[in-house]
Amino acid sequence: MHKLVLATGNQGKLREIKALLEPLDYEVHTQAEFNVPDVAETGTTFVENAIIKARNAAAHTGLPALADDSGIEVDALDGAPGVYSARFSGPDASDAQNNALLVEKLAAVAEAERGARYRAVIVYLAHAADPSPIICEGSWEGRIVLEPRGEGGFGYDPYFYLPDHGCTSAELSAEQKNAISHRGQALQLLVAKLRQLD
Ligand code: IMP
Repeated sequence: MHKLVLATGNQGKLREIKALLEPLDYEVHTQAEFNVPDVAETGTTFVENAIIKARNAAAHTGLPALADDSGIEVDALDGAPGVYSARFSGPDASDAQNNALLVEKLAAVAEAERGARYRAVIVYLAHAADPSPIICEGSWEGRIVLEPRGEGGFGYDPYFYLPDHGCTSAELSAEQKNAISHRGQALQLLVAKLRQLD
């Protein structure tokens, strides 16, 4: 059994990651169980922020660590909000405030120009000074709509329209979303890489 610390307090992510890694004999703990203090996400890329979070968790626990970072890039906004997705409308912004700002900024943009993608990066560090982290990435293409649709998911999901599915990501079940999302893709790649470590 390999012990691992996950650099998040998000119970949804914990459940998803546990389900994928327990069959590979990983015992997944959250950093909250070890009272790991949060660290400032000072990077300007998803990879940097994921490494900062994983390194912080590994340094405080002495365990291998996993961290993820994600966000949405909107073409008409030159890739914003990107790594600032959670803080788009301010430091303690709610999903509703961030979505309101997104709709405001895109109100005058034609539908065909509202392309966007979710990105996720997952990093595994064997220890805090690991010089060669495992880095897995996923991306999920969609388009921003100006009217919300669906009750599922979180964050920008009610405004993230998937042309191939004819619905927003908030209209997918959790299982459907995990199977195809940016985070789901990155996790599947991670599972494949961790298998190779054994
Ligand atoms: P974090 O990686 O948990 O820090 O998430 C960054 C931010 O990106 C979230 O607060 C959301 O605003 C946005 N985001 C990332 N993934 C998703 C998703 O699957 N659905 C909706 N919003 C997301």
